[in-house]
Amino acid sequence: MSATGRFFSLLGPPACGKGTQGGRLSEYLGVSYLSTGARLRKEITDGSKLGKRAQVYLDRNEYVPDELAIELVEGWLESSEEGWVLDGFPRSVRQAEYLLGRTGGRFAGLMLDVPEDELRERVTKRKECVECGLVVGGEVTACPKCPGRLVVRKDDSLVAFEKRLVAYKMNTIPVLEFLESEDKLVVLSGTGTVDDVWERFLTTVSS
Ligand code: AMP
Repeated sequence: MSATGRFFSLLGPPACGKGTQGGRLSEYLGVSYLSTGARLRKEITDGSKLGKRAQVYLDRNEYVPDELAIELVEGWLESSEEGWVLDGFPRSVRQAEYLLGRTGGRFAGLMLDVPEDELRERVTKRKECVECGLVVGGEVTACPKCPGRLVVRKDDSLVAFEKRLVAYKMNTIPVLEFLESEDKLVVLSGTGTVDDVWERFLTTVSS
């Protein structure tokens, strides 16, 4: 399918690079960006009502129920009508159907494909900013974008990663099949450097 437009959902297994590339893509397009995972972690840290409902699922490395995920994005979508990049939504066929209906089919799913062994390698080496959600790898100690603190995510241990991978395979692989059948999916290789992957994004969203 052609992926021109201003409404994109990033999909892929944990640690595939959705956050890093999603942030870049939204800056490039000049549109809003939302990582549902980072927003959920923030709601939990802030102790909000929604955060309290979500916590039990994140603690178990399970997906939150669809109603909760949809509630999280609903208001945000309303305030981002000019374009958006969603990272980590949809993650179930029900969420994908909701998004298709909500946008009248005006979005493209971009899936980042990375071999599992490389994901395991990456997940143990990354940190996330508690304020802006930026994900950085390697030895970086301060967020390059804002004064927020960098922390290792609780669900970035190898044990937690394996559980999240199971949840991904169970719930999100069917989403890829569904989007493919609707001609709403582009699969990109997520291997190589951040810049290598970004080049592939650029070619895809400009063609
Ligand atoms: P992520 O930061 O994208 O890896 O997401 C972290 C966690 O947040 C996931 O393991 C899920 O528990 C939850 N989560 C994020 N987005 C969704 C979603 N669209 N549907 C269900 N659960 C989600």
